[in-house]
Amino acid sequence: MTSKLIDYRDYDKEFWYEELEEWVPKRIYDCHAHMLNNSLIDDSSEHKGVFPDADFEGIRGWQKTVFPNRDVNNLILGRPALGTRINEYNDWLFNELRDNQFTKSHRLTTPSDSLEDIEYDIKNKGFQGLKVYRMYSVTGDMANCTIDEYLPHEQLELANELGLWVTLHLSREDGCGDEKNLNDLTEFTTKRYPNIKWILAHIARSFTYRPIQQGIDTLRNLPNIWYDLSAVTDIRPYITLFNNEDHKRIFYGSDAVESVSFHGAYTAYGHAHQQVETDNLPSLTFSHTTNRPILCIYEQLIAMKQASIICELDNDQLEDIFWRNAVRDFNVNW
Ligand SMILES: [Zn+2]
Repeated sequence: MTSKLIDYRDYDKEFWYEELEEWVPKRIYDCHAHMLNNSLIDDSSEHKGVFPDADFEGIRGWQKTVFPNRDVNNLILGRPALGTRINEYNDWLFNELRDNQFTKSHRLTTPSDSLEDIEYDIKNKGFQGLKVYRMYSVTGDMANCTIDEYLPHEQLELANELGLWVTLHLSREDGCGDEKNLNDLTEFTTKRYPNIKWILAHIARSFTYRPIQQGIDTLRNLPNIWYDLSAVTDIRPYITLFNNEDHKRIFYGSDAVESVSFHGAYTAYGHAHQQVETDNLPSLTFSHTTNRPILCIYEQLIAMKQASIICELDNDQLEDIFWRNAVRDFNVNW
């Protein structure tokens, strides 16, 4: 199955051994990995069959390939796809993960899910939190929705009551630099929903330098905020985060599988960013070198590595980020 999930090339392997083998800690707790099951997506959905299935074994195989010689455990997140039959999907996650004592999971949750279903799954199926996504916004506008448009207040109340984690991919033009998002996170964490623990995915959705630069002075002073580092390949957001945040609030995450399995990167151009898959651009000839593009997951790791050197993170802090923070905060006995 793994071979369908990744095209691992000689350049990737060489890059790992040149830059990463010595630097990446022996243990990784991946706080942002998705499992996909196309059979649980309605036939009419444009998202059905676009990417190969990734069950838990597939995720483990993928990680064995991209993180050689490492022990890896996971926070598995529900994978957003339009047309997903939510209850069946969450049942599948539960059944795939039930025998794995080191694995945690966040329930795929949309605004139309009933409070009863959510509560039942939390209490009976081992989910420690929710994975919500802007694609399910009640406004239909995934690019510019507010948090409560994809995680409605009645679900926020329940999450607060149960003290849940929520993995949040911020929407709106400036992600965590957006004033409305910052005001909401301030109100939610300090007043209205003080028991919810937020994981702001992709460095609080900073694929360029600006969102985290604009948001960090607010976010660093809020309780119950954590970040995952998944899929960010620009070094600048890492530098801002590492220089300004408590490293104990930072989790490693990959965004496995397909979001980081291509050759290329999420490239920043001014205040815009774009997934650039180099295989799809025949005009790129790389005529100055015999070197060739590497996997996006390695672009992420090399950005992290270089930022950690610039910001003088020590090995202990790196171990915290790569696995110890998650193990402590999720109560994993690893
Ligand atoms: Zn993701």
